[in-house]
Amino acid sequence: MTRPAAASLRPDTPVQFLKGVGEKRADQLARLGIRTALDLAWHLPHRYLDASSLTPLASARVGDEVAAVGRVVATRVLPTRKGLRIFHAVLRDDSGLLECTWPGQAFLERTIRQGQLLLVSGPVRFFHGRQLAPREYVILGDADALDDQPMEGRVLPIYPATEGVGHRFIRALVDRYLDQLLPFFTELLPDQMRESLGLPGIQDALRSVHRPTSVVEAELGRRRLAFDELFDLQLMLARARAVAKRERNGVALVTNGALADPLRAHLPWTLTEDQDKALAQILGDMASPERMHRLLMGDVGTGKTVVALLAMLVALENEHQAALMAPTELLAEQHASTMAKLLAPIGLMPEVLLGRQTASEKAAVRKRLAAGASRLVIGTHALVQESVSFRRLGLVVIDEQHRFGVEQRAALIGKGAAPDVLLLTATPIPRSLALTLYGDLDVSILRQRPPGRGRVRTAVRTSAERERVLSFIHEECRRGRQAYVVLPVIEETEKADLKAATTMAEQLKVRFADLDVGLVHGRLKADERDTTMRRFRDGAIHVLVATTVIEVGIDVANATVMLIEHPERFGLAQLHQLRGRVGRGEGDSFCILQADDAVPERLKAFAATMDGFKVAELDLQERGMGDLIGARQSGGLNVRHAKLPEDTDLLEVARKLARELIQQDVALTKPQHAALRERAIARFPRAVELFRTG
Ligand code: ADP
Ligand code: MG
Repeated sequence: MTRPAAASLRPDTPVQFLKGVGEKRADQLARLGIRTALDLAWHLPHRYLDASSLTPLASARVGDEVAAVGRVVATRVLPTRKGLRIFHAVLRDDSGLLECTWPGQAFLERTIRQGQLLLVSGPVRFFHGRQLAPREYVILGDADALDDQPMEGRVLPIYPATEGVGHRFIRALVDRYLDQLLPFFTELLPDQMRESLGLPGIQDALRSVHRPTSVVEAELGRRRLAFDELFDLQLMLARARAVAKRERNGVALVTNGALADPLRAHLPWTLTEDQDKALAQILGDMASPERMHRLLMGDVGTGKTVVALLAMLVALENEHQAALMAPTELLAEQHASTMAKLLAPIGLMPEVLLGRQTASEKAAVRKRLAAGASRLVIGTHALVQESVSFRRLGLVVIDEQHRFGVEQRAALIGKGAAPDVLLLTATPIPRSLALTLYGDLDVSILRQRPPGRGRVRTAVRTSAERERVLSFIHEECRRGRQAYVVLPVIEETEKADLKAATTMAEQLKVRFADLDVGLVHGRLKADERDTTMRRFRDGAIHVLVATTVIEVGIDVANATVMLIEHPERFGLAQLHQLRGRVGRGEGDSFCILQADDAVPERLKAFAATMDGFKVAELDLQERGMGDLIGARQSGGLNVRHAKLPEDTDLLEVARKLARELIQQDVALTKPQHAALRERAIARFPRAVELFRTG
């Protein structure tokens, strides 16, 4: 194959053809997502080393975590008595000398050589004198290199690297091609807007992230790239909203109170203020000729079900049907039984459609739905099957909406002529994240918990208190209560994790000889798991040992204790979700986190609050948002440059501008928006459907 001449570098030139790369390294670069020349410009440093933050070698103190630069004056490999080979290098700078050691890395002998200028960072320890044990090292210059610039005043970008292509190689490669690549970037942000945001132009921004003269400049560059990315994302979301909210022909579901009023009159309690407000927002949407597309967000136990039910009744009042879809059979059954009880006084029976029903049962349900004889149905994804049709579906409610794929949600919604859509979620998320994930989706929030329900008290206990914890659980169960014991499972396929759950169940069977102990985990077949869960629900099992598969909305009012093992292995939001399984009855409940010896601050902060939104903020701070979004499978919407909550200000502006733009040009088909449209689709390819026109 002939190599294109350097002069003909194009954005899509495969990296393989760049100087110094070749086939093997191209494969390695591909692992970092770098396939074309342009990808190099997009491969941003994940951090910077700033000369001003360097410690003179003589001042590196034992116990400190330092970054330092020095010339290698000597190297050697020394074996320890245990046969471990340690690589040593002595560095020198103007202030003095410092020894660096890399246990078990004798191979560094071939990489780090006398005369090189080396940057190291890591902890300083005492071992026959001060020693730095580098976590990271960067060779800044070779002994024989003439262009050896002093570190003074330099900010060194550190790139994500991988085996075979170290950061030094990547830095050199990016640096070599950056000037040729920059002209490929055209400015799409109007000057005036850019200036009002205080952001640099696109080419300057890229230059700043790759070759900053200060860390502040690099950060400013990153913010510019983050803005573009957030803007593209918000365009997608604004477009999604426009598609979702399109007008329907004259259908307005206005409440006449025929069903909703008598139901409210029969409720054993009054709605909370939050429930009232959410319901008013929902009914407002339903009464409008635009379709509703609303998310009802509220912690477990805040009473989303009854709000959804009242909305469903309004659809019925208007001679439409309503369907609620839940992610599991157990949850669907639970909804069906709750709703059946609530609806009994007004003489309505919900229809139920589940995968485990017999073929003839299902056929009968389908027939009634198609004929319009059944008006309110609750089911699992069995509802989206092709054979299911409705006579006139006016409202779709989707519980735990994130547990369904985009296609499944769309399939159910597609069974009506532009039905209203109400999404439920028990995962509160901070506003910044909600804007990123859902953009302009209308959101109603339930913060208050209904009165008259027990509190959940959270405690963190150390291993020394283990015995007391077990006695407490035993005592509670003997008093007729039930308990969950939850173990972390990172991968349901991890044998060690499953073994831990099985062992725990065995131990507890011995420890609680007079109680029934059950076990559920992700490797069980769905029906086995459901059987055990049902037995727990019905009180036949006292202590349920479980991996995290226990359902989000599961409602066992009698379960008042939850013991969480290895809480440090869970994210805070996940701990909060787990905690929501207790506290569903009248009495107080207890969530006990079994820590080791020291109790980490994060667990203390968690134990101190029951507010799901606060927990969500803590979780976002702790994990950053890439992780959260990934975990949420948000239909491929992923951000690389933006950081939340730090960039919330940019997000707000991006959202406003995107919304205005979509209002003017709903599919971005005007010629002046072509480049923007192309960029947004390229960045979020899975959202391309949204921009199909015609
Ligand atoms: P969520 O689905 O939001 O987790 P649910 O809808 O299951 O919560 O409601 C939790 C419990 O609170 C249910 O037992 C329900 O009957 C009860 N409940 C709902 N609203 C109220 C209210 N306004 N006052 C008292 N109890 C309520
Ligand atoms: Mg619920």
